[in-house]
Amino acid sequence: MDIKGRKSLVLGAGKSGVESAKFLAQKGATVALHDKKEISEWSEEARSLKDKYRVGLIDGKLPGWLLDQIDLVVISPGVPTSVIPARYVDRKDGEVIGEVELAYRFMKGRIVGITGSNGKTTTTTLIGELLKNAGIETLVGGNIGTTLLSLAEQATDETWTVGELSSFQLETIKDFCPNIGICLNVTPNHMDRYDFFTDYAAAKHRLFMNQTTDNLAILNADDEITSSWAQTLKSHVTLFSTAKELDEGLFLRGRELICRAGGKEKVLTTRDDMTLRGIHNVQNILAGLATGLACGASPDSMKETIQNFKAVEHRLEFVREIEGVQFYNDSKATSVDATLKALEALSEEEGKIVLILGGLGKNAPYTPLEELIEKKVRKLVLIGEDADNIKSQLKNVAETLHADSMEDAVTKSFQSAKPGDSVLLAPACASFDMFKSYEERGEVFKSAVGNLLPTNSKSAKTDG
Ligand code: ADP
Repeated sequence: MDIKGRKSLVLGAGKSGVESAKFLAQKGATVALHDKKEISEWSEEARSLKDKYRVGLIDGKLPGWLLDQIDLVVISPGVPTSVIPARYVDRKDGEVIGEVELAYRFMKGRIVGITGSNGKTTTTTLIGELLKNAGIETLVGGNIGTTLLSLAEQATDETWTVGELSSFQLETIKDFCPNIGICLNVTPNHMDRYDFFTDYAAAKHRLFMNQTTDNLAILNADDEITSSWAQTLKSHVTLFSTAKELDEGLFLRGRELICRAGGKEKVLTTRDDMTLRGIHNVQNILAGLATGLACGASPDSMKETIQNFKAVEHRLEFVREIEGVQFYNDSKATSVDATLKALEALSEEEGKIVLILGGLGKNAPYTPLEELIEKKVRKLVLIGEDADNIKSQLKNVAETLHADSMEDAVTKSFQSAKPGDSVLLAPACASFDMFKSYEERGEVFKSAVGNLLPTNSKSAKTDG
């Protein structure tokens, strides 16, 4: 891709936009960076682009005429594609791409692209470890912290770049084609940004749109949407399942994770080897094993990596046990489906669950949680803006309590729990009504749990 002299506009002055503007400027493009937030609120790094790289900074409303002067628009995942007027998109030489596409055009080596509604970060991190520990030259990035663009020029012909990709990032790819594409699941999420569920599913499907018979698609056979894609993709397909045995592919039988290919079976690892909890994590691991096998990682090395792999922070992360009550931080469970998976995972344990739910609602019904809540939950502790809505939907299946803060929620949960129970923060909501991010919500939870003092009222039962 020749960028020199191209008049380019980067939309969104967050991490992805800053990286794109810097990259384009370094390659000799004329660059403007726009964000609707006032420049005074931009990060130091974003503002410094003006002096360091002569990037023009524009805030507020995007001037209507500007796009007509621009050859290339690089749009950040946080900016809806609908902000680009159709007249520009239709212009012959007007190109609109995202940072992932830009990175792809400069990347050497091979790519594993991972998407799905839930499990992306866990699976991306795991695949990074599986490949690295097998001696394969590996880079990890994308939606997970390090932008793909910042890795683009580090990769060599030997590198496997493992990239976590959100549906927003996939909306703005064009030629991007992962050698291995994985879709873990597609369940309603981000419905604040998509008009229809099919639009969201279609964005995920784009991961495979440029794949050919030389490429591999790894798909969840238990998910209605991803399994329906298996027949229609041009790519070679490997399926995985935790619900049924497959003629070809990777699946769970009892506690064994098995790969069956060409009529031959191999047990790759067992659930007893995993520190990760829950069937959803078996799915993530099966997807990881399928990838490792395709990249040439040895089964022995993968087994060892899985034994040592701990939950990524804020993803069903074990925090502490006090007086027989175990505390789990799943602050990243920002959707009903992720909460359901966490409940399922802890339902495999003996005790009951005190569940902290609530935050900024995403307009999805909470009723899919009813059955497990009725069976397993001792008490619901509700926080945040959507607390009343949750209460009205779930009050018939469990006792509810209201908490004013996370500290209050932790105290009330501990008071409600009995020895052998788990207290689970899996809010099924975004965090922005009370916190800066789900990370901050998880930190506050962990610190409140850390500050709990023994009551001595529970311990007698466990010690005795
Ligand atoms: P993502 O990056 O897609 O948001 P994470 O790995 O960060 O995924 O996990 C997000 C939430 O989803 C966590 O609460 C986690 O426990 C849950 N989760 C992880 N893997 C899966 C899966 N395969 N299916 C459903 N939920 C999952």
